[in-house]
Amino acid sequence: MIRCISCGEEYDDDEIIYTCKKCGSILEVEVDVENIPRKTFDCRRDNIWKYKEFLPVNAENRVSLDEGGTPFCKCDKIGKELGIDLYVKVEGSNPTGSFKDRGMSVGTTKAVDLGVDMVGCASTGNTSASLSAYAARAGLKCAVVLPSGKVALGKLAQAMFHGAKVFSIDGNFDDALETITELALEGELYLLNSINPYRLEGQKTIGFELVQDLGWESPDRVILPVGNAGNISAIWKGICEFKEAGYMKDVPRMTGIQAENSAPIANAVKSGSDEVIPVENPDTIATAIRIGAPVSSIKAMRAIKESDGTAETVSDDEILDAQMYLARTEGIGVEPASAASIAGLKKLVENGEIDQGERVVCIVTGHVLKDPNVAIDACEEPTSVSSDPADIRNVLRTI
Ligand SMILES: *Cc1c(COP(=O)(O)O)cnc(C)c1O
Ligand SMILES: [Zn+2]
Repeated sequence: MIRCISCGEEYDDDEIIYTCKKCGSILEVEVDVENIPRKTFDCRRDNIWKYKEFLPVNAENRVSLDEGGTPFCKCDKIGKELGIDLYVKVEGSNPTGSFKDRGMSVGTTKAVDLGVDMVGCASTGNTSASLSAYAARAGLKCAVVLPSGKVALGKLAQAMFHGAKVFSIDGNFDDALETITELALEGELYLLNSINPYRLEGQKTIGFELVQDLGWESPDRVILPVGNAGNISAIWKGICEFKEAGYMKDVPRMTGIQAENSAPIANAVKSGSDEVIPVENPDTIATAIRIGAPVSSIKAMRAIKESDGTAETVSDDEILDAQMYLARTEGIGVEPASAASIAGLKKLVENGEIDQGERVVCIVTGHVLKDPNVAIDACEEPTSVSSDPADIRNVLRTI
């Protein structure tokens, strides 16, 4: 069953609907979590379908690229420096290089269940990269709308290469979403942005996995970058379902990080207000979170409040520093938006919000290769040498 998160109105699973007809608010899919013993998941392959009892689609028809089951890396060097127990969940290891694959696997499976023939999305990049691949896998037609000139090179390459019809508009992500939503409401295509609650059903498996990664325990805190705020809402839903199922007792403080000039949710949390006021011209180098009017802000605000969590902002410089720090200290290469979680972690430790000894899971959302231009711009040019080994030896002795 699909339910409005504000007025509680209920809708059938086979209705194609994105917002409540009664009050206009956003929807969620209700899942029955009773009587699923924890051992159900033993000896299953490590992908999101391991948790198929919690996924409200027809698993027989699954559209899957073996997404999920991503690395969970204990990061002792950074952890020690900050005085915490740190784990990093590496979502860049998904099939197209971001956590979006979890949502698209379930979302395109739903599209197949519904019998639609075309899917579409607006995107800052990763949503389109993922949808283009999953639509190909499912044999569905696919249309994506991107903000012109603001999509990282790797993501654009993926969306184009997997065969989506790619449109570029003169506007930002929020404008692109408005345009594609109109087409979806006309019935032209099935919308797979995160306003579609089935996307979040796939993404909630991050919450499942991190609990299982910790031996069926909750961390003290989960930190992640927040753009449209679907992922923080999804992870919280997953955590709550696992708690309701009786798999663990505690829950983590959900902690969202936004880029300074794209921070409507962090601004609301910091000012103690429940009202999320959209940012007109959002801007940041972390293009995946360059979003001014988060679609899932009500869900995200609830997740933060119910979990006694928080939100913080970080500057582009802090993001770039954290990106390189993670790459060079722990060997984990992530795109700028993902590094916001590490930058936010650092800031929250420094300002005393995070206690010494806390067990923290940072979600790093996308792969470093998504945005090769940012990576290359941050580095020195390769050193030109002759083929004489002496040339290289001389340089090696100086490093
Ligand atoms: C989509 C995305 C985000 C933001 O997730 P939301 O669900 O929109 O809050 C963060 N990082 C990366 C790499 C993404 O692709
Ligand atoms: Zn409603």
